[in-house]
Amino acid sequence: MSHVNSGVDFKITGIEILETIIQTKNLIKDYHTGDITVRALKGINLEIHKGEFVAIMGASGSGKSTLMNILGCLDVPSGGDYILDKVQVNKLSKKELADIRNQKIGFVFQGYNLLSRTSALENVEMPLLYNRSVHYPDPAKLAISALTKVGLGDRVHHHPNQLSGGQQQRVAIARSLINNPAVILADEPTGNLDTKTSIEVLSIFQELNDQGITVLLITHEHDIAYYAKRIIEVRDGLILKDYQVEKRKNAVEDLSNFKVEEIEII
Ligand code: ADP
Ligand code: MG
Repeated sequence: MSHVNSGVDFKITGIEILETIIQTKNLIKDYHTGDITVRALKGINLEIHKGEFVAIMGASGSGKSTLMNILGCLDVPSGGDYILDKVQVNKLSKKELADIRNQKIGFVFQGYNLLSRTSALENVEMPLLYNRSVHYPDPAKLAISALTKVGLGDRVHHHPNQLSGGQQQRVAIARSLINNPAVILADEPTGNLDTKTSIEVLSIFQELNDQGITVLLITHEHDIAYYAKRIIEVRDGLILKDYQVEKRKNAVEDLSNFKVEEIEII
């Protein structure tokens, strides 16, 4: 009997580990400009599970942002299916799409997309105010907690122009976390940052992923993609390769090497 029970337990654990967050089937996206149609996605099949850290990597024009916009419910596909956290997204109305986006997705963009005349705290609170399905009694407290998580607990009243690029991106990461999303989508989040600051930002994504948060990072750089656990390479609107990273880079280790080099220079 005990043998049978342990088999059942194993299966239950297996199901929990493999909970699917994102699934696409033959996803297609056409852009129409005048008489010309560009097929930016030509049939994308992918499956991403809870707790994964996936980099979508490809050259400029390969369709990364198009894919991210659909996965993030900012745009709808021209064909195929998209299932986000058990919801068939491609059948939803615009309003339903906005609701599911606010509930399930945290966004981080290359240009931070912070409101310049408001403090870090107010920027991070923003998604809570847009979430119509939940009332938050103390948004400021949640925002301070998210800012503390990204190491900015002492900068909550600073405005974006009083923060460095890396700090602004950390505010954006705190904002992406605030709704407790099913997945964080980051489109070229280190594109505006120098190498060391990029690794600092990646150390935050790795730490959040270690805490169980699902991260989808979009990048055109190999060096950045190797901080993820899995890489999906796209080219011309199709998946070229999909593999687990063997020698994954560790951002905290790489940062400590930076410090050693700086001391040597002195
Ligand atoms: P990436 O993010 O990998 O650089 P994109 O998803 O932005 O690639 O673009 C994929 C293809 O779709 C490119 O050929 C691009 O020119 C085209 N494209 C992207 N957005 C639009 C749009 N709004 N209208 C027309 N064509 C577009
Ligand atoms: Mg892009």
